[in-house]
Amino acid sequence: EIFPGDFSGNTIQRNTPKVLFSTVDPVGFENPELIIFNEKLSEEIGLGKFNKDDLNFLAATNLPKNVKTYSTAYAGHQFGNWAGQLGDGRAILAGEITNEAGETNEIQWKGAGATPYSRHADGRAVLRSSVREYLMSEAMHHLGIPTTRALSLCFTGEEVVRDMMYSGNPQNEKGAVVVRTAESFLRFGHFELMSAQKEIKTLTELTDFTIKNYFKNITSQGEQKYKDFFSEVCTKTADLMVEWFRVGFVHGVMNTDNMSILGLTIDYGPYSMMDEYDLNFTPNTTDLPGRRYAFGKQGQISQWNLWQLANALFPLIKDEKFLEETLNSYGNYFWKAHDKMLCRKFGFDELKKEDEEFFINWQGLMQELQFDYTLLFNLLEKLESISDIKTDFQKISYGFLDDAKIEKLEDFIQIYSLRLKANTISKEESLDLMRKTNPKFLLRNYLLFECIEEINNGRTELLQKLTKALENPYEEIFPEFSVTRPPNYDDISGCSMLS
Ligand code: AMP
Ligand code: MG
Ligand code: MG
Repeated sequence: EIFPGDFSGNTIQRNTPKVLFSTVDPVGFENPELIIFNEKLSEEIGLGKFNKDDLNFLAATNLPKNVKTYSTAYAGHQFGNWAGQLGDGRAILAGEITNEAGETNEIQWKGAGATPYSRHADGRAVLRSSVREYLMSEAMHHLGIPTTRALSLCFTGEEVVRDMMYSGNPQNEKGAVVVRTAESFLRFGHFELMSAQKEIKTLTELTDFTIKNYFKNITSQGEQKYKDFFSEVCTKTADLMVEWFRVGFVHGVMNTDNMSILGLTIDYGPYSMMDEYDLNFTPNTTDLPGRRYAFGKQGQISQWNLWQLANALFPLIKDEKFLEETLNSYGNYFWKAHDKMLCRKFGFDELKKEDEEFFINWQGLMQELQFDYTLLFNLLEKLESISDIKTDFQKISYGFLDDAKIEKLEDFIQIYSLRLKANTISKEESLDLMRKTNPKFLLRNYLLFECIEEINNGRTELLQKLTKALENPYEEIFPEFSVTRPPNYDDISGCSMLS
């Protein structure tokens, strides 16, 4: 069966039992055009400076004949249901590179053509999704959050048909390809696939490989080695969730095939940074009735995903009690780390007993006021210099807060100030904590929207500006970005238009 959307006409989508990858040739685009290249990342991973011949590589065009490229097979639970075999439907791996320090990075194209795992789709990526992947993965990195990275963004020179919002009115969009890197792109789903197929030998080899290469601190042997591995995946995952909560990142599609075994943020689809605080916020329009992957659910869902990983690893860790205990203590670990993170956001010296109640009240207030999450903390840093809270808050919230709400905010600030007085650290130290924890620049959806529009029209000024801003997220380089989403963008508050 020739896959219908495959323009190269030679990739057959299929089930590939018993294997973890298939060799795949990228389509080879004829007129690729570079949009942006990440010099710093290139140097970091050992690729060196860009020269014009590199464009062919970045667009997966005219690759040397001896280069073997491949896509991997994985499985997953999607929206709570077992989805069976999935795989890299539009990702093709070029291999791994080692830098001078001996660090390794995998390199892959996203959008370079269909693979055996493309199922009903075309293996292509459009400009819209590629700009979103490139910019947000870099933004997350510079925020200090574990993530896959982006090396380049190219037009493919091809048009791709997409029906945004399933309108029944498909449009041509510009095709693009992103080169992305990560220490490893392995996901929970890789382990789930081998386990479901009862390929226990391969599952064992895969797990041994993962531990040997990416969990070098694990020195135990036998079943204990696998236990230590699972415990560490739990810790890394919880730490990542806390980081998402710190900046207000909502992933949007936390299926187990989108969960990195290294605890990296992976698969930038319908994600969004949260503007106004809302635990129920989801940017994913296909997740609307259930809001399974809403902002406030991400801790809980990551635990559910780890249950699936535990099931997959059961052939290696035949100790139900251990697995259950590890998973049950996940919640405690997560909340403790979460509350410590909130302490840093508020500039508190340490987590005190009373803080829990303070956080619950704060959360209730935020949920009620729907005030901008990031801007609130930026304002709390400046409390001392603010003479008139009302005017200051109105300025950045487009007059959204009425008098009753301002009053509530003022009451909250009074309680907050009292708590600050109980700090054993100095005012400067407290402020320093806040400045390092609360970003000044947030790559908001409306900015991405404007940037994509511009690139589509042949301009890259905003792209350059956003790149500079996201590389220094704890500084306010461009004051015009320190505002909440303008009202005329309310209809893309999620990213319905972008997902
Ligand atoms: P996601 O929701 O992005 O995690 O995607 C779910 C599955 O669909 C993954 O196996 C992807 O590789 C695949 N997929 C998504 N978009 C495409 C596409 N345009 N062509 C082929 N496969 C795709
Ligand atoms: Mg995915
Ligand atoms: Mg995706």
